Amino acid sequence: MEETLKILVVNDDQVDRMAVRSALTKAGVQMKLSEVGDGNDAFSALNTTAYDCVLLNYRLLDQNGLSFIQQLRSSEIKVPLVVLTGEGDEQIAVQLIEAGATDYLSKSKISPETLSQVLRSAIRVYRAEMQAALAIQQLRESHEQLIRKNQELEKQQQEIQMQNFKLLEASQLKSHFLATMSHELRTPMNAIIGFSQILLRPKFGQLTHQQADMIKRIFNNGKHLLMLVNEVLDFSKLEAGRLDLKAERFDVSKVVNLAVGEMRSLADAKNLSLLMQTDLQNTLIFNDPVRIKQILINLLSNAIKFTESGEIWVEVKELPANRVGIIVRDTGIGIAPKNFKHIFEAFWQVDQTITRKYPGTGLGLAIIDSLVRMMGGKIFLESKLGIGSTFIIELPRQITLSIAADVPALQLDGDEIFCSGKNSHTSVISSQ
Ligand code: ADP
Repeated sequence: MEETLKILVVNDDQVDRMAVRSALTKAGVQMKLSEVGDGNDAFSALNTTAYDCVLLNYRLLDQNGLSFIQQLRSSEIKVPLVVLTGEGDEQIAVQLIEAGATDYLSKSKISPETLSQVLRSAIRVYRAEMQAALAIQQLRESHEQLIRKNQELEKQQQEIQMQNFKLLEASQLKSHFLATMSHELRTPMNAIIGFSQILLRPKFGQLTHQQADMIKRIFNNGKHLLMLVNEVLDFSKLEAGRLDLKAERFDVSKVVNLAVGEMRSLADAKNLSLLMQTDLQNTLIFNDPVRIKQILINLLSNAIKFTESGEIWVEVKELPANRVGIIVRDTGIGIAPKNFKHIFEAFWQVDQTITRKYPGTGLGLAIIDSLVRMMGGKIFLESKLGIGSTFIIELPRQITLSIAADVPALQLDGDEIFCSGKNSHTSVISSQ
């Protein structure tokens, strides 16, 4: 159904008004036509009613069409406006359009077709302009909203950066505290261990059985405490990237022998066989012997700690591509596959309860993992719950010391541990 248009005709000449009315009626325009004689009445009508179009005679009794249009456009009233010009008025048509008229039509050309056509196109153009203005307004608003959001985001980003900075500071402080404390604890610990060892020597006088037993306990606990302190110190140094490898050429089978020898009494105390096999054509390697021994002692003490009966094997063998494999296998409690990806995380233990059966800091494997990476090697784990675990370390026969500076932080992903540094892909393999 065609829309009924509300049209206001502003003209003091009755004949003109009739001509407009009859042309629109003949053209079949559905309309509600209002007519006023001058500008003042036109303003009153426009203030009370929302018209779809104004047909304005250029010459009014109280003013000319140009000043009427200017007044109308500076008011709040929005309406399309067609100026009907008389003989000789055409030259001001441009001024009328510039002032805000939507269109103009010479009265001499009024016919049902021309008038209805001009009227409809004026309404269409005007509505399109209004929609465009609305869209521009909405765009402007969303643009302003975007700017505000951007500013908020920038502020949040700055806050996050600030928090990151504070976290970094706190972490550095923690590492510094750990390093200083463990370093300071080492001196008195060494004195306790040293003097209790001296007291146990016969030349310092005869001790009763009970006294000797008590000093042995001081000595053993002191050694255990020193090991824990050393683990914390190593960990804080590794975290701060301040642990250096001191590489030299040495006989790896001798170092393995030494580590096995040191751990034998612990294995004997639990009635575990500790077996060693070296299968190397060339036993010389270029690495840090102290750290290699530390890795072995750590793996062996875990193997002894988590094994109740059976054997522990240590094997050193030749690997392709000028690499050497160090393998520690036990018949202990084993590790469930779901825990494989956590096993090398710092402070992580399968049993996280305070009342856990097996003591430890949860730092040993994290330290081993970092050291192996620094050496440009890989560590693998094969394990089956209730059957036992095997830790396999593959190392280049000759390490490159610059790798140490290149060791990135761990990124855990499923059953494998990936890190972005070259030559440093550590896989955890399940034997199940
Ligand atoms: P800690 O031995 O001080 O707890 P580690 O980092 O050496 O810390 O080991 C982390 C955890 O991995 C251990 O608490 C234990 O749950 C598990 N684990 C390590 N080695 C073995 C092993 N040989 N057999 C069974 N579980 C092990």
